[in-house]
Amino acid sequence: MHFEYERLSALDKAHLWHPFTQMKDYMGADPLIIERGEGVMLYDVQGRGYYDGFSSVWLNVHGHNVPELNQAVMDQLARVAHSTLLGMANVPSIELATKLVQIAPPGLNKVFYSDSGATGVEIAIKMAFQYWHNRGIPKKKTFITMNHAYHGDTLGAVSVGAIPLYHEVFRPMLFPAHVIPYPYPYRHANGAAGAMEETLERLRTLLKAKSDEIAAMIVEPIVQGASGIVVMPPGCLSELAEICKRYDVLLIADEVATGFGRTGEMFACGHEGVSPDLMVVGKGLTGGYLPVAATLTTDEVYEAFYADYEEQKTFFHGHSFTGNPLGCSVALASLKLIEDRRVIESVGAKAGFVARKLAGLTDWPNIGEVRQKGLMIGIELVRDKAAREPYDWAERIGVQVCMRAREMGMLTRPLGNVVVFIPPLASTEPELDAMTEILVQSIRDVTEGRIG
Ligand SMILES: *Cc1c(COP(=O)(O)O)cnc(C)c1O
Repeated sequence: MHFEYERLSALDKAHLWHPFTQMKDYMGADPLIIERGEGVMLYDVQGRGYYDGFSSVWLNVHGHNVPELNQAVMDQLARVAHSTLLGMANVPSIELATKLVQIAPPGLNKVFYSDSGATGVEIAIKMAFQYWHNRGIPKKKTFITMNHAYHGDTLGAVSVGAIPLYHEVFRPMLFPAHVIPYPYPYRHANGAAGAMEETLERLRTLLKAKSDEIAAMIVEPIVQGASGIVVMPPGCLSELAEICKRYDVLLIADEVATGFGRTGEMFACGHEGVSPDLMVVGKGLTGGYLPVAATLTTDEVYEAFYADYEEQKTFFHGHSFTGNPLGCSVALASLKLIEDRRVIESVGAKAGFVARKLAGLTDWPNIGEVRQKGLMIGIELVRDKAAREPYDWAERIGVQVCMRAREMGMLTRPLGNVVVFIPPLASTEPELDAMTEILVQSIRDVTEGRIG
């Protein structure tokens, strides 16, 4: 076993280039190599167990190695692993599209598959663009995004991204987008009300001047994830949707992180009864098992592409694995488990439990804010609480906390100075109890300077 770890570790360092990872840092440490999972636990090749405190980067819903989900993959595998959706169909992709339409906000009646959140966003952007083109209004071709938005790492998704550290280097390759502020109450001089008013005012002003040039606005509904789990003030999303509608600008809801119960509703749009024109889902769609994403849209958008072939209104977009039957089968099984086990209904009580466990943190000297919507939690660490002064980025305080948590048996990844806790929705109270204990202790150890 020891030899096996050494062998894999050497090969990993020799051949893998890891995503979002400075490989020079990676080379300096012993890599964590996962071998198997069971429930909310992951086990490395040396047999150590870790709570999956970030749902394997916000994907996992029911835990790992779930018999019902395994069975769905095996049953489909015995039929066919893959066949294309280009001009033909397969059974699970039809069943899943039907199910998605049933659970989606009203009006989203059409499903276009892809294989990741980023590709789902590309599709939404291209669809919105071509929608106006096909309708004979090609002037409407630009996009609105929000400050610190993250929509994935392909170039279209990066063009509507607004996280300088990730996106700035690529700026010369990107199409320009209008950026309005995302409401960030903790860092706004006038708190939640002021932040929301500024966002809405900026949107109104922009649309008053330029709505005839703007195709769509893209938003992470209710929770902006990668910027640090920042929760919108109540009512903000529905106001945004209302303003876009008034000015005839399509609304794209990026539910890749928030979909499938993470925030306590099936989709975050459901908190405020918002029905977007396009909605992107990914991550939790397959319960976190396989790479399937989908872009849902309305009959109205679909109709703009529906024409005689000679009119050249076809949506020329697709991926080799679009509508992959294994992925669609496991997504169907995951949605069935969500219903059978009343997973969404359980999130409220679990979120309440976590909130009580973390309640004391707000008094700590180096905790600026604890943000939570459902089972998406972000804890913003600050050097100076009164001044809300952030830790210097080079200190990597978030990384230190997560390394400490890993030593104590829980995995998570920070977002700058924000420690993220996004447990699988299936986590039981005793599991959430153990995970939050590690979370709190690791923050204490690092901020009190006991380690690091
Ligand atoms: C993760 C994420 C994406 C990108 O999804 P990938 O599957 O990693 O390409 C897009 N939007 C949001 C809001 C996300 O959290």
